[in-house]
Amino acid sequence: EDARSAHQPVVRDLSVCTPTFDRQTLTREMPAAILNGEMFLQYQPKVHVREQQISSAEALVRWQHPKRGLILPGDFITVAEQAQQIAALTLWTLDEVIRDQKILAADGHDLTIFINISGQLLSDKDFVEATCAKIHNCGAKIGFEITETAVIRDPECAIANLQIFADRGIVIAIDDYGAGLSSLAYLKQLPARELKIDKMFVLQLTSSNRDPLIVRSTIDLAHALDMEVTAEGVETQAAMALLSVMGCDMVQGYLISRPISIDAFRRFLLRWPPK
Ligand code: C2E
Ligand code: CA
Ligand code: CA
Ligand code: CA
Repeated sequence: EDARSAHQPVVRDLSVCTPTFDRQTLTREMPAAILNGEMFLQYQPKVHVREQQISSAEALVRWQHPKRGLILPGDFITVAEQAQQIAALTLWTLDEVIRDQKILAADGHDLTIFINISGQLLSDKDFVEATCAKIHNCGAKIGFEITETAVIRDPECAIANLQIFADRGIVIAIDDYGAGLSSLAYLKQLPARELKIDKMFVLQLTSSNRDPLIVRSTIDLAHALDMEVTAEGVETQAAMALLSVMGCDMVQGYLISRPISIDAFRRFLLRWPPK
């Protein structure tokens, strides 16, 4: 085992539930679940390849359901979006992140924390105002991960709101690059500082013929547009080495750490970098 994975904190094995989720029931239960503290965040660090420093982290939401066990976002984010509950969930996430960031700051860590923003929120005026107010009041270093497809519904409005966020100091990252309907036209117009290459191009990076070509040209494209590049889904030392040669700026993935609780993340940071 290499130094990095040996160093990785043990993840508490939350009971994972398997039943098929009844969307209507989840929709009904969600507002109370947010209020009752059934939602919680895990953090996954991003590492700067050259400096070997943790530059930022991504917050990922989970739902610890009292009867169904742990529900992952893949099973409830679209439900939240369709039930008009995604704004409430995201504002809750922002509050948690701001609180956790203060804990990290007290430990001496000055990290930008990224949260995932659903496309529909980019044309939600109330969400934009509420977010700006929260961030203005505390000066938190926040990043938003958005997908390009998020912009397609109402590009003019979405790009204008992204500009508002960027002007307030929120770092915009383009998530899952290459996974959906990527459009170079939007890429040029978004006020984004960072581009995240989707894990579908990274997971088999060292065993595939095409993935390295796609990843390399994406890195070059992002750099030509003055953006930093993160590769997500980095699971092996071999992938890490290849990404480093290709000039990838940051990596995120199980090799460094799985998503972990704020307390586990604090312990992780104490022991970083691994010897
Ligand atoms: P994402 O933003 O692309 O997040 C990355 C997903 O890949 C996470 O799954 C993470 O646990 C997983 N992952 C990270 N490193 C590795 C790796 O090395 N290998 C592999 N195989 N997987 C890795 P997760 O936590 O289940 O999240 C799924 C999606 O749910 C996220 O995809 C994101 O789009 C969405 N999501 C999570 N939290 C929120 C939220 O607060 N709001 C919104 N709107 N969406 C969220
Ligand atoms: Ca993300
Ligand atoms: Ca992603
Ligand atoms: Ca994804």
